[in-house]
Amino acid sequence: CGIVGVVGLAPAAPLLLDGLRRLEYRGYDSAGIATLVNGQIERRRAEGKLAQLAAALERLPLAGCTGIGHTRWATHGAPTETNAHPHGTARVAVVHNGIIENHLLLRAELEAKGQVFCSETDTETVAQLLDLLLAEGMSPVEAAKAAFGRLEGAYALALIFAGHPELIIGAQRGAPLAVGYGADEMYLGSDALALAPLTRQIAYLEDGDWVVVTREKAVFYNSESQEITREKKLTNLTG
Ligand code: GLU
Repeated sequence: CGIVGVVGLAPAAPLLLDGLRRLEYRGYDSAGIATLVNGQIERRRAEGKLAQLAAALERLPLAGCTGIGHTRWATHGAPTETNAHPHGTARVAVVHNGIIENHLLLRAELEAKGQVFCSETDTETVAQLLDLLLAEGMSPVEAAKAAFGRLEGAYALALIFAGHPELIIGAQRGAPLAVGYGADEMYLGSDALALAPLTRQIAYLEDGDWVVVTREKAVFYNSESQEITREKKLTNLTG
């Protein structure tokens, strides 16, 4: 239901948790965070309130300066920790708002190719599809581009990749996503409010857009995967 992401220099988990708190108004039933620690994906998830996730992070802190966070409003699969986002494999982690309408078809296809699912969500099809494409040798950008071409339905997505500690790829179709510009850091959020304490410089994705975010810049593509520019705006929100 809510997405935040950061590619930065400071520990990501506190920033992500704060961003998720600012998205609480949207409603949610579970939450989670994934970061890159020494190039590997690590995650913490919890059923229920963000306080539960905060407690899990206190028990077992999450290092890493690049990460993604999610508050979930379950549509496919019960609101359990297993079904909480981020979903993923050793290669990729995914947070998602919305519904992947062709998830059953994709799941059958991916299971037939040997991908092993861990949750009941529609979202995990995105993670397993990316995992397969990466295993076949695609780069994160190639895999994301190919995967977005297979997805039907409404979504905002944020992806991180093992071995790529300064990269987040985002996509929007029917659910909002914004890029925030910081000093030597970049952010992703469902809305500008989520990012208000971090930056007032925001660029909104348009439907069908996807974006490659690194610490220095955001490169936007439209649904035809042509590079485009999306205007940076100054919000009047304050942290
Ligand atoms: N359809 C996804 C799920 O049920 C995402 C729901 C959301 O937007 O939070 O896990």
